[in-house]
Amino acid sequence: MNKNSNNKIHYIPYMCDHSYVLEAASAHCGMIIKTLPPPDEETIDFDLPGVTGRECLPCFVTTNDILRQAKQPDFEPANSVFLMPRANGPCRFGQYVSLQRDILDDHGLQDMEIAVSCAGNSYQGFGDDPTKLRKLIWDGGLAVDMLQKLLHEYRPYEIHKGQADKIYHVGLDKIVQSTREGGGKQLYHAVKWIVKEFENLLVDRSEPRPIIGVIGEIYLRLNHHANQSIVRQVEDAGGEVRLASLMEWFYYTTWDYKELTKVRGEYFEFFVTKLTDMYQHYREHVVVKPAAHLLKQPYETPIADLVKNVRSYYDSALGTEALLSIGKSVDLATHGASGILNVMPFSCMAGIIAAGVGQRLRRDYKDIPWLDVIFESKGNTNITTRLEAFLYQATQYHRRIVLE
Ligand code: SF4
Repeated sequence: MNKNSNNKIHYIPYMCDHSYVLEAASAHCGMIIKTLPPPDEETIDFDLPGVTGRECLPCFVTTNDILRQAKQPDFEPANSVFLMPRANGPCRFGQYVSLQRDILDDHGLQDMEIAVSCAGNSYQGFGDDPTKLRKLIWDGGLAVDMLQKLLHEYRPYEIHKGQADKIYHVGLDKIVQSTREGGGKQLYHAVKWIVKEFENLLVDRSEPRPIIGVIGEIYLRLNHHANQSIVRQVEDAGGEVRLASLMEWFYYTTWDYKELTKVRGEYFEFFVTKLTDMYQHYREHVVVKPAAHLLKQPYETPIADLVKNVRSYYDSALGTEALLSIGKSVDLATHGASGILNVMPFSCMAGIIAAGVGQRLRRDYKDIPWLDVIFESKGNTNITTRLEAFLYQATQYHRRIVLE
């Protein structure tokens, strides 16, 4: 990324609430990152000149989000940078930026830069103090993951409806504010506040619910505006969700880079990446520890273990999100899940692979219920009836296998 670009306003499409941590961390480090408003009816639609409908849903939604921003009267293209993550590899994620460049140019936004952060370099190179920035993002991201896990484990059982959501929103604000102030002790206090609130939340667990693991394409599974609030729909149908986290992806990028440096014989870089991995896990234990007694699986399963999980289904050298989806499904099935929900954009290569493998995986895990949910555009995935049937199967599985 161009160094002078650090003075411009960087816009990042809303993917999930972790975006606000990125915004706060960058503010602390003197860089302006603004999260775009979440997608809405207008932006979750194929109606975008330059796309054919065969692109991945996250690609055209994020492009529509930035075009919506560009229509604002105070928007200055020459002072704006569109921040877009990217990954190398066989899936279409690596192609988004080229298409988006063409579309922005067609809309007269040639002056607007697109800055790419890439999994290949573990997202290095942003801001004047990228190390500090990455540390703040890491700690804040871990805290948001922890908060979401608490929400999903407690909300289905709360006695007074809406209490868990209230704690979530105030807790999120506290995490974001403490990140803006430099993390550390401030973040610790925010986490302690959240833990106390969940400890005091009144719950009724007399009727245990089947646990549903939600895996699949990262943007879609984490963006409740784009996935029609799939977590809430599962809860309304009688389940409790374990959502594959955001930080899992960042652990994966570190692991992937480590493997790459090993294969290339770049031993110094390999050693540095190994230390980074150790540091990331250490920070997870520091940040999440105060909440560990409230969560069934408080810490992320190491990527090396997820990779071991896929061995009989998929060659890990092929990478992509399919690796994580399959590895996580096995992890969930061995940690009490009674159903797996694979969320994917229409024609998503990684999602299709996971769906294919899912049938074999089911056989190996006592026919654990599995549902693939495909999203195309707004309002075209009527899943309520399928979810109810799936939850019925998961409840049977829960009684037959998990409680036996
Ligand atoms: S993971 Fe799926 S939706 Fe995402 S870029 Fe790859 S093919 Fe597209």
